[in-house]
Amino acid sequence: MYYKSFDRKVNLNTEWNLSMFFKKFFNVTIVILFIAQSRCSREEEVSREKKSDVLRKNPEKTSVDRVKDDMKYLVSLNGRKSFTADSLKTAEFLKKFMQTMEMIPFKNDFMIKYSDSRGTEQNVFGCLNPVSEKFVLVGAHFDHLGKSGNHLFPGADDNASGVSAVMEIIRLLNSSKEKLNVCFIFFSGEEMGLKGSKAFVKENESLVKKTKLMINLDMVGREFFGIIMKKSSPMGIGIITDGISKNVEKTITTNCEKNMLSPILLGESLIRSFGADYYYDSIPFNKKGIPTIFFSTGLHKDYHAESDTIDKINFDKIVATAKAVTDIIRNLQNH
Ligand SMILES: [Zn+2]
Repeated sequence: MYYKSFDRKVNLNTEWNLSMFFKKFFNVTIVILFIAQSRCSREEEVSREKKSDVLRKNPEKTSVDRVKDDMKYLVSLNGRKSFTADSLKTAEFLKKFMQTMEMIPFKNDFMIKYSDSRGTEQNVFGCLNPVSEKFVLVGAHFDHLGKSGNHLFPGADDNASGVSAVMEIIRLLNSSKEKLNVCFIFFSGEEMGLKGSKAFVKENESLVKKTKLMINLDMVGREFFGIIMKKSSPMGIGIITDGISKNVEKTITTNCEKNMLSPILLGESLIRSFGADYYYDSIPFNKKGIPTIFFSTGLHKDYHAESDTIDKINFDKIVATAKAVTDIIRNLQNH
């Protein structure tokens, strides 16, 4: 997540300040709390995964194991700062993953390059099936803040969590060999001001025209509002929507609850009306009139800090989110 007031800089001297937390990001919190008193009942999870060839190779691995493995690798890449060798290494890892999943690249290359004054970067894009009609696009940014002197920013929640969730969504959908019109994108440049998603929307008109819905996952591995509410909401998740119908809203809520998540849905326009100053990769799509759904467990005291580490991640929640998005995509395919 890109927080404009932080002005891209990582200020190591800034102490986390709870009043700032309220004032800047959660100026909508109070409203949300009134809206969001509903808690879903927990249901027995029914696994509907069919095992794919890829999954059969690792039959002992659960979704949690796979997400953990992916996240461990992502946080080992020195903060994945855009326009560095680490960013390219991350993109290569994601490209190889898409190849392993036998996905379909765009113009024979999973890497979609873009440039700015700093050099060349790439988003990583692929589809489950050949693109013939409109598709749902699922995305997460893979970049983070890199290193600053002796300080390393691992970006476990921001956004290794979203990337590993999207990788698991790909595995789950791929495993059942469904003929779904769904494509996936891993953005770079998010932490530098949504560079990757802005470039994608600007430079790939043919793909953007075919995008009927964009689902973005950014920071999905932590407790939602726990720090403020001082009470546990381990499976809470925030969902910011733009341009979707009541029916789709219901589909989102139903599938989140089915996967034991406690969703809180908010409209993008409501968030903006409270003067929110944070940005994410679904926004360039909104500006093109494409409906969007953005999943996030929100800011926390380790946001853009060295302490955004993997040991604080709730892997069950990432898996639940991946499964909920998978179910939402299946349900919406018939709309
Ligand atoms: Zn961020």
